[in-house]
Amino acid sequence: MSNSKYNKYPYKYFETNHTFQYLFWSTENLNIKMEIAIMLNVKSFVKATVKERVRIFKENELSKQQAAYKDFMIKSNEKYNLSSDDIECLANILTSDEDHFDDLKRLETLQTLTIGEKYDLIENAQKLYYDNLPKYISWENEKTNFNCIYNDINFICSLKHNDTYFSLLRLNHTYKLPYLKEKFIGGECQICLEKFLEMSFVSKLRCKHSFHQKCLKIWLLEKESCPSCRSRVIKNMRFESFYNESIKDDGIVELSIILYTEATRLKC
Ligand SMILES: [Zn+2]
Ligand SMILES: [Zn+2]
Repeated sequence: MSNSKYNKYPYKYFETNHTFQYLFWSTENLNIKMEIAIMLNVKSFVKATVKERVRIFKENELSKQQAAYKDFMIKSNEKYNLSSDDIECLANILTSDEDHFDDLKRLETLQTLTIGEKYDLIENAQKLYYDNLPKYISWENEKTNFNCIYNDINFICSLKHNDTYFSLLRLNHTYKLPYLKEKFIGGECQICLEKFLEMSFVSKLRCKHSFHQKCLKIWLLEKESCPSCRSRVIKNMRFESFYNESIKDDGIVELSIILYTEATRLKC
C-alpha cells in the first residue's frame, strides 16, 4: 500500500482527463509524468471494465428472460401445442423492442390458437418472469481479483456490483401483448389517437393503460411516466461507479470498483 506516493501531488485531486493531460504536458519532471500516465490508465481501465460489465449484465438478463419465456411455453405446451421453432421465435419476439407484428403472423402453430389463448400465453409468460425477478437489492461479487494488463500496466481488480434496476422493474414493468378488445381500457392509443388493430402488439403499462409500442418508445425518450395517468414507468438502466486504487511496491495497481445499476430517477 503506497498510497502516500500519490498524496503529495495536488493533481491527484483534479478530476478530468483534460486536467491530467494539461499537467502532463506542462511538467518537466519525469516521475510526475509517469504517475500521471498511470492515473490516466487507471481511469481508462475502470471505464472500460465497468462498460464491459454492464454490457454482459444486460445481455445475461436478456437471455435469462428469453429462457424464462421458453420454459413457461414448454411447460404449458400440453394445452397450446406449439412447435419448438415457434416457441423459440415467440420468445425472441417478446424480448425485442420492435413490434414484429408480421413475424408473429408467420408462426403457424401459434395461429391455431384463439386470440384469447394467445393473449393468456403471452401475458402469463411475462408475468412469471417479472414475478421471479429479485425482490430486494442484489449484490454480485463475480469478478473478484482478476488480473490484467492494460496499456502496459498490471492491474489486480475486484468488482462489486449492486443492482436495484431489476427489483424496481419487477414492480413497475411493461407488458408486450397482442391487442384484444375485452382485455384493454379503451380501443385507441392515447398518444397518436389511432385505433388498435386486433392482434397487433401493444405496450400495456402497470397502470393498465396501453399504447402502440412505437408511440410509447418515442414518448419515453422524453418522459418517464404514463401519458394517460402520469404513473412512473421504468425505462432505462443507468449506472454509476466508484473506485479506490493503490500501487504495490512491485508496480501492480490494486483496484476495487463498486458499480451500481439502477433505474433512471424521475426528475420532478
Ligand atoms: Zn399510437
Ligand atoms: Zn397510466
